[in-house]
Amino acid sequence: MIINSKTKIVGILGYPVEHSLSPAIFNYVFEKLNLNWCYLPFPFPSTHKISYFLECFKELNFVGLNVTMPYKEVVVPFLDEVSAFARIAEAVNVIHLQDGALIGYNTDGRGFIDSLKEVGVRAEGKTVMVLGAGGAARAVVLSLAMEGAKRIVLANRTRERGEKLAAVLRSRFPKVEALVVDLSAEAKPYLAEADILVNATPVGMDGISKPLDEEVLTALPASSLVYDMIYSPLETPLLKWAKDTGRKSLNGLPMLLLQAQGSFQVWEGSEIELKLLREAAEAALKGI
Ligand code: NAD
Repeated sequence: MIINSKTKIVGILGYPVEHSLSPAIFNYVFEKLNLNWCYLPFPFPSTHKISYFLECFKELNFVGLNVTMPYKEVVVPFLDEVSAFARIAEAVNVIHLQDGALIGYNTDGRGFIDSLKEVGVRAEGKTVMVLGAGGAARAVVLSLAMEGAKRIVLANRTRERGEKLAAVLRSRFPKVEALVVDLSAEAKPYLAEADILVNATPVGMDGISKPLDEEVLTALPASSLVYDMIYSPLETPLLKWAKDTGRKSLNGLPMLLLQAQGSFQVWEGSEIELKLLREAAEAALKGI
């Protein structure tokens, strides 16, 4: 890859970002497609200086950004425009600098729903328990409601944040039953009725922890799907538990690739083939 004055710069804003596969995936794709683009990690530690970061990004005339933890919600007030879905979700995972304006989008929700469809699962009529109420959870929960989920149970560490998300759900999607429970034994009876369990917290990225105790998890029906949005590691302790107990499981990699496809669509208006994105992810995971 030759970097010159015409190279289009995109990247990922978050803190930390070492765990992200996106730089390796995108740079692999750019090289294969012979595009003069470069994808950089932007680990930015100072939440209170995020407007300064975005102003500099604008001045440098870069093309766009992916946004990850903990900035998906933080960046929203500092953007010039925000897509309708990202505004409702109050979370942005893609930014495009277009004609001097920073425009925010959210491709997480679509990526999540499409990854479910890839394994033949539809959200319509389903009961889903979602752990977490951060940027990713918000997009996922709204997309589930848009797809006609019957009941969404929100379990978050801070109950207040869960209640806030439930209130958005109830006002926008009155047909969907939205409930909030504690991330504890209180979740058990609701888990017993869940068709899908989604982990949208970072718990499990350490390769050791599970977001719910095994004693609580056992309530989950044997036919349910366990979806962990984490992709590093590919098999979290929660997914290992699901596999060991004969439940269906899905990690966050398909969603990552689908939201990456959506991001490039926003920046360039054209599609990267999923086959190439998968090949890039395989290479990134092998450290090539
Ligand atoms: P965020 O910081 O916005 O939200 C994190 C949520 O997890 C919050 O609700 C927080 O209360 C909860 N949480 C954090 N630590 C916890 C703990 N120790 N115990 C219980 N709850 C805890 O982050 P986000 O952007 O929403 O990302 C959440 C996870 O989803 C991350 O692991 C991220 O990598 C993953 N993710 C994956 C994809 C993908 O494409 N596969 C996309 C987006 C996010």
